[in-house]
Amino acid sequence: MVHQVKKIAILGSTGSIGQQTLDIVRKFPDRLKVVGLACGNNGVIFEDQLHEFNPKFAFSAGSFPLITVMKPMSMEEIASQPDVDVVVVATTGKAGLGPTISALKAGKTVAIANKEILVMAGELITGMVAQYGSTILPIDSEHCAVWQCLQGESHKISRLLLTASGGPFFGMTKAQLADVTVDEALNHPTWKMGKKVTIDSATLFNKGLEVIEARWLFNIPYDNIEIIIHRQSIIHSMIEFVDGSIKAQLSTPDMHLPIQYALLYPERTANDNIKPLSFNAMQSLTLEPVRYDDFPCLKLALEAAKKGGTYPAVLCAADEVAVDLFINRKTKFLQIAEIIERTMALHKPVPKPSLAEIIESDKWAGETAREIAGKLT
Ligand code: MG
Repeated sequence: MVHQVKKIAILGSTGSIGQQTLDIVRKFPDRLKVVGLACGNNGVIFEDQLHEFNPKFAFSAGSFPLITVMKPMSMEEIASQPDVDVVVVATTGKAGLGPTISALKAGKTVAIANKEILVMAGELITGMVAQYGSTILPIDSEHCAVWQCLQGESHKISRLLLTASGGPFFGMTKAQLADVTVDEALNHPTWKMGKKVTIDSATLFNKGLEVIEARWLFNIPYDNIEIIIHRQSIIHSMIEFVDGSIKAQLSTPDMHLPIQYALLYPERTANDNIKPLSFNAMQSLTLEPVRYDDFPCLKLALEAAKKGGTYPAVLCAADEVAVDLFINRKTKFLQIAEIIERTMALHKPVPKPSLAEIIESDKWAGETAREIAGKLT
């Protein structure tokens, strides 16, 4: 079969998802070609990537020189180049919002790994997809699972059962959590991810963001989304249909698979770098309810989801500040929730916000969270 080569731009190419996306490009060079790369500050890895993939367009937030053949441009410009078919948004935090909007306005397919974009601006983003005929594909194991379960279905869903590993601290009491260290929080039991996402997994904040993302990606009301703790990270999510049937997607926990599914969709292609699921590993798959009181960050995320308006943007900004302070050993683990809660409590929400109002709320929340954190002992 002759395939058209998809031309891709990767924003956040030096991060965990960015590097794994490049693994998929290396594996399928006749199907995927890198035309744009963008990174934050990881100059050493980026230089190697530029030499290996020789993209037409490049951007770096850092100050190191780009090699001369490439045209330096902003992430917004890269995302809307006529020569780009698919934009992989693998940036962290809010950095991907502007480039995603410019890609959608240019009618591109956007494979989205950055959760904050849909959480902050889900209504605006889904409106743009409809208006400009663009496409959003999820790069997240849970949403990829839902997407796969929905293939060939008429979308009569009664429940989305979103699975969560529970992170490294599942089962610990509040007293035990008071003194956990950054290194302990970064030691995720089943997934290897970037630092921000790993901390968000330890607090289960991440799962709250995924609920909001699922609501926008699949148009499922919040009341029909349920979180289930599944320690082994083998069932990546399940969909229950109105007739009571449940479909699940299972695979080894490896992000290469959701990345490959999004980039080569609608085709499934063998990749011998992805380990097949061992049935030995499946002898004791467990499912258990979430104890919400143990995970205040998750509760806050779900609260922001239901309140809507600018609350989810405030939630993300406060968490970004709090997690950054925790990673830099300036706050304690339990203070992450405290900073988010206090910031949300001070917020004056805007219903149905414009992009400018979302950006304004984000800025306000970042500053407020930093002030609140400064006063914590
Ligand atoms: Mg996930």
